[in-house]
Amino acid sequence: MGIFEKFKSGFRKGSTVLQSAFSHFSVGGKISQEDLLEIEEAFYLCDFGPDTTEEVLQAINTAFRAEKELKGEEVVKIARVVLSRILEGSEGVLNHESTASPQIVCLVGVNGSGKTTTCAKLGHRLKESGSSVLIGACDTFRAAATEQLKDWGTRLNLEVISGHHGSDAAAVAFDAYSSALAKECTYLLLDTAGRLHVKENLMDELAKLKRVLQKREPEAPHQSWLVVDGSTGTNGLAQAKVFHQKFGLNGLVVTKLDGTSKGGALVSIYRELGIPIYYLGLGEQPNDLQAFSVEAYLDSLLPTSMVSTSA
Ligand code: GDP
Repeated sequence: MGIFEKFKSGFRKGSTVLQSAFSHFSVGGKISQEDLLEIEEAFYLCDFGPDTTEEVLQAINTAFRAEKELKGEEVVKIARVVLSRILEGSEGVLNHESTASPQIVCLVGVNGSGKTTTCAKLGHRLKESGSSVLIGACDTFRAAATEQLKDWGTRLNLEVISGHHGSDAAAVAFDAYSSALAKECTYLLLDTAGRLHVKENLMDELAKLKRVLQKREPEAPHQSWLVVDGSTGTNGLAQAKVFHQKFGLNGLVVTKLDGTSKGGALVSIYRELGIPIYYLGLGEQPNDLQAFSVEAYLDSLLPTSMVSTSA
């Protein structure tokens, strides 16, 4: 499956909601107040948020006042132009040429957001593209997390460094770093404990992990990514803000976008935080982690059957 097909199947639910809201335009060409209401509702359902929805509607209204009549594809193009502008700079791209060796990617986020799965999928993806990868199982808090990661490691042939349940996460990170350094790995991926952002002691543990790594590598971790469950829509925003404040994030991975109609939450999250989105989780299989692409995202979410060319 190519990237477009992956995105298309991942965003099927959100795209169906938008498709039905935009569908009237392809018939009559005229825009009515009801059509606009339906578009507004669809944008809310997809979790684009009030600001983005308002901007899209304003742009459609402005065009309508100028043109008097709008066709379906024109309306979709207007929405696309607005969304593309909002998403400018949102594509995070890992620098495989980085001088940092290993490049440390630390995944943080609340329980169940998909960190462990993302860690395995990312390791697989990087390895497939020729990088050497080591994984540090620093979620010593959840007993099953290390086992889960080791299982993934066996299945995908990825080396996992772990400690025993309840051991010091920072010590595991330090060991994993030493090992990755000795083996000259390109990437060290760190899975961390799922923490409720209100739990200060767990936040402190994350800060300690960072401090301990920085004793050996002042720039560590080079990538601090928040893994957010996209199916919870904009609810992810509150946690993102706290993690950003406490840990200093420079990237996002949005998971579980398959099977949700809330694909628009990506726009709200980026708009609010301005942190680039590196990858999207579009399923539970190893190959279901996709590099974020604004083009592929908009192509798959907006009703493409009406659009002949990209705006
Ligand atoms: P963690 O607690 O943050 O480490 O979360 P896990 O990695 O254990 O994931 C929690 C659940 O979400 C697991 O059942 C995963 O299989 C599932 N999951 C993770 N990413 C995705 C995704 O992109 N799509 C779907 N459908 N499920 C996912």
